[in-house]
Amino acid sequence: MNNEILVFAEHQNGKLVRATWEGLAAGQRLARELGGAVSVVILGGGVADLAHQLAQAKVQEVLAADSPLLKDYTADGYSLALNQVLKNRPVRYLVLGHTYQVRDFAPKLAAKIGSGLISDCLAYRLENDRQIFTRQVFQGKFYADVEPLGGPPHLISFQAGAFREDAVERGSSAAAVNSVSVNLTAESIRAKPGERFRESKQSVDLTQAEIIVAVGRGIKAPENLELVKKLAEALGGEVGASRPICDGGWLPMDRQIGSSGQTVSPKLYVALGISGAIQHQVGMKGARTIVAINKDAEAPIFEIATYGIVGDLFEIVPPLIEEIKKIKTG
Ligand SMILES: Cc1cc2nc3c(=O)[nH]c(=O)nc-3n(C[C@H](O)[C@H](O)[C@H](O)COP(=O)(O)OP(=O)(O)OC[C@H]3O[C@@H](n4cnc5c(N)ncnc54)[C@H](O)[C@@H]3O)c2cc1C
Repeated sequence: MNNEILVFAEHQNGKLVRATWEGLAAGQRLARELGGAVSVVILGGGVADLAHQLAQAKVQEVLAADSPLLKDYTADGYSLALNQVLKNRPVRYLVLGHTYQVRDFAPKLAAKIGSGLISDCLAYRLENDRQIFTRQVFQGKFYADVEPLGGPPHLISFQAGAFREDAVERGSSAAAVNSVSVNLTAESIRAKPGERFRESKQSVDLTQAEIIVAVGRGIKAPENLELVKKLAEALGGEVGASRPICDGGWLPMDRQIGSSGQTVSPKLYVALGISGAIQHQVGMKGARTIVAINKDAEAPIFEIATYGIVGDLFEIVPPLIEEIKKIKTG
């Protein structure tokens, strides 16, 4: 019976990307609940060091397919190599992060193995032995619960932030790193890798911030952002925002938090006038403490807030800043 969960490890510029660890957290949870083992596969040219980093996680083994033809990513190379790896193992689920690279090769791989790809999932749950994956449809207007049909392996990609990288269980000792040989020829790779797609340069790295004061449409006008900046300054934190604030040019794009912005996990996240749409939540639900100020008691942000204040931010924030200043000056 196919009961292995295999996690795809992505790397860029010699480093494992965050989606790899989030995928591992997802894979470990699936393995725990379905009673199988979790392993991880890495492809590339000269990936021994990265494979050993992965072996620190609680996994059965790390499979490393090292080949000069995999040194540069191509959809042909990756789908051919993974197809061969999958053929020789009892894999039930191949878990991937929903990154640009995965979006590029995973449909090709799914077609090769004749299996489905449930992509960009936000969540997973086990319901009476049924594995259900939730994803958004129609530009995020609806949620669809999707269940894989047919024989394994099934491909599942998870949206950034759907699982927390710090939820990855470390092993008590390093797992075995085993090399797998894949049969590739230069002719089988029909694309020549160009320059890697780069996100627009981010001058602010909110992922490292310990305190973030994030602002949404409730702030009403750009001139009111001063209030938000003052709160962030008093707390010693960074300013973040929901998408409409950045789309409107009120704050630069690198301040955006959410599925199409940054994924953050600060110690404290203060959400001011943010409704808490799912696309925003996936970028910040990993925060340790979430304080939400919103005048609508039904706003979804309160479902994940540690502390919630129902009220007008323009009345609440100024005295809050004064109180913080008083505490700081003793
Ligand atoms: C494909 C896709 C990707 C997306 N990616 C992102 C993303 O990365 N990040 C993101 O944030 N969004 C993203 N969105 C948009 C997302 O769906 C929401 O539209 C957006 O998060 C809403 O922003 P908001 O909470 O600021 O505004 P709104 O939803 O309009 O909420 C404003 C809130 O302010 C409150 N409010 C109003 N006045 C006050 C006041 N005086 N005091 C206190 N509270 C007040 C209101 O009660 C309301 O809850 C994406 C959407 C799609 C379709």
